[in-house]
Amino acid sequence: MKFIHLSDSHLGESMPLYRTPPSNWRGEGFIKNYYNALKPALRGDVDFVLHAGDLFDKHHINMDIIGRAMVPLRKIAIKKIPVFIVPGNHEREHIPGGLLLAGENIHIFSKPETIEFTVNNKKVVIAGFPYIRHESRKSFRKILKKTGWKHQRDAFNILLCHQVFEGARVGTRNFTFRNGENVIPLTEIPQGFNYIACGHIHKQQIIKTKVVNIYYAGSTERVSFQEMNEEKGFFVVRIKDGIPYHTFNRLPPTTMTIIELDTTGKEPGKLIDFFEKRISSAKPCSILRFHLKGEIELEKLKNIPLYLYKKRRDDIKVEFRKESLSILKDKRRRFYVEGTVKKKEKPYIPYRIPIDDSKERFLFTRKGIENVLTTPGIYILMNKDERVLYIGKAKSLKNRLLSHLWRKEKGNEGFYFWLKQAKICDVVTTGDELSALFLEMSLIRSNLPPYNKQIKEFQNYVYLTVRQDTYFPTIRVVDEVKNDGNPYFGPFRKEYKIRENIKLINELFGIRPCRRNLNDSLRLFSCPLEEMGKCDAPCTGGVNPSIYRERVNRMIDFLNGYDNGQIRELEKEKEKLIRIQEFEKASDLQKRIVSLTIIFNSLKKIRKTTEIHGTLSLDFGKGKRKTFPVVKGRVLWQQTKKKIEEKFGFPPKKWELDEMMLLSSIIGSNDKCITLNKKNSYQKEKRGLHQLKEEGTAVLGKS
Ligand code: SF4
Repeated sequence: MKFIHLSDSHLGESMPLYRTPPSNWRGEGFIKNYYNALKPALRGDVDFVLHAGDLFDKHHINMDIIGRAMVPLRKIAIKKIPVFIVPGNHEREHIPGGLLLAGENIHIFSKPETIEFTVNNKKVVIAGFPYIRHESRKSFRKILKKTGWKHQRDAFNILLCHQVFEGARVGTRNFTFRNGENVIPLTEIPQGFNYIACGHIHKQQIIKTKVVNIYYAGSTERVSFQEMNEEKGFFVVRIKDGIPYHTFNRLPPTTMTIIELDTTGKEPGKLIDFFEKRISSAKPCSILRFHLKGEIELEKLKNIPLYLYKKRRDDIKVEFRKESLSILKDKRRRFYVEGTVKKKEKPYIPYRIPIDDSKERFLFTRKGIENVLTTPGIYILMNKDERVLYIGKAKSLKNRLLSHLWRKEKGNEGFYFWLKQAKICDVVTTGDELSALFLEMSLIRSNLPPYNKQIKEFQNYVYLTVRQDTYFPTIRVVDEVKNDGNPYFGPFRKEYKIRENIKLINELFGIRPCRRNLNDSLRLFSCPLEEMGKCDAPCTGGVNPSIYRERVNRMIDFLNGYDNGQIRELEKEKEKLIRIQEFEKASDLQKRIVSLTIIFNSLKKIRKTTEIHGTLSLDFGKGKRKTFPVVKGRVLWQQTKKKIEEKFGFPPKKWELDEMMLLSSIIGSNDKCITLNKKNSYQKEKRGLHQLKEEGTAVLGKS
């Protein structure tokens, strides 16, 4: 009887989730070694296969990788060679694509259990469980009990797991695990096992105990520089008379080289020669890490185009580390020449609406408001100095004012505490609530009454901008639009939400998430986001500037509400996941799709609204109507069209947004109070357009 024991294949390591990996990423190396390790099984030379955890590098994994992991396993299963897999810590105790991988002769231990089968009339019992994340020291016995394993004399007993046992060694300095809540003491291992197939420790080793030997096959490929001197491979175990005899089969690992370089007193020319030499003589498909030591002046360092060396060869990966390097910076202070710093531009002051002729004033007393009508309209409450305290709208003005007055008389100390100060009230009656809503909105934004808290929130709206003045543009959240040549998008109501969504946008378009200044030159060192596959490291020359620029242009098209092709791609990806019953991943992807679609749609709506040209007609009751021109989605309450038109650009000002969205929704809901110009392309997309007037306006009305 013969079997293979391998572990920690880490498929998907060095593989970005949604993009094709650059040629020097070593993700393919992991897949190649995994295939090589399974070769004896593919040839039919063994009776079963054990994989002791971390088949995949991540819980969220590319579908392509799952497919490639499945291919050899399926071939082995067809040959009636059983394969046993335990989920590891990288997979978060659950194998992604589990249903895809599982099938006849492929068994995944998604819970603690024991499996029995026979090989050449000899019984084999395998107890296995997924990775125990917390306090495995305490819970090991309990979980082993849950597997239902009992020692069988006539069988070969195997424990398959992904844990750290006491005495396991790691790293270049052979750190040995002794204590710790996740280190299982050897005394906890019960008698009766013939072989413990374990994963998690990447260094190949055998821990000898009194009862049984613990076999760590190690990872099939070097995962970090800590493993640069380790041999990689898998065990082929032959069982004779109930005793396992193992051989360790080596796999070709990636060559990792650390080159230490003291830069103190060295001229840039010498350093350049050194890098050139080492990079050109590096082994193909290797990783070269330069550990820079000593000290160097910043000006000298700038003369060494380290980012170019990263790109010098496509087949190797070059890294520069600076932990031990001290960079001597020029400490001269910078002064701004007077007059070069731009003064803050004055904010645009919105105009008041012309309501004075419709306005009536009353004392805020029971007697005073006796004469107020019960029609819809707005009311403005003021203190004795005529300072506006609160502006509201009501379906019945009189009833609303009476209810305020009742609260004032009652001395309500809650939300309406300010009513004590209210002495005067102005009212404007309207024919419908919609007109009242428009008036209320305009008055609040021009007067900013202290107690209209909710509607004043527009002051907290934010914008997105793409900084075009940097070599590798980034997307940022800003408070206000500046005239700096960068495109701005928005405004957005919820800052925290848009900050969350920026991460999704960056990931979707491959934009760097950091704020590093890359204008002078590229940097020597990237950051952990590169290692995590979340950034292509443009800071160190990981992306060609022209490719990066294309990505930025696509992102700008998305933010302008023109192109949502990327969302459609994600939709397709989601459908694929559903087809293979990866519902958890599909639901994660769906959440992302929803967030991105909300951004796209709201930006598209804002852009479309800025294309509205027409007339707004408000009803002030008693058959009195007033019309206001609408230009680029903004209502011109007072000023002439000519004067203001050039001021209305894209994106809208914060205080314009709510009014514009109201206009847009009126058109959408087929209301009568707005007419659109004939030329307006916006009208074609909206419901309710059924009548065209001769003078060139399209009238929206209920059909
Ligand atoms: S890898 Fe470079 S560009 Fe990317 S986030 Fe990190 S520092 Fe910024």
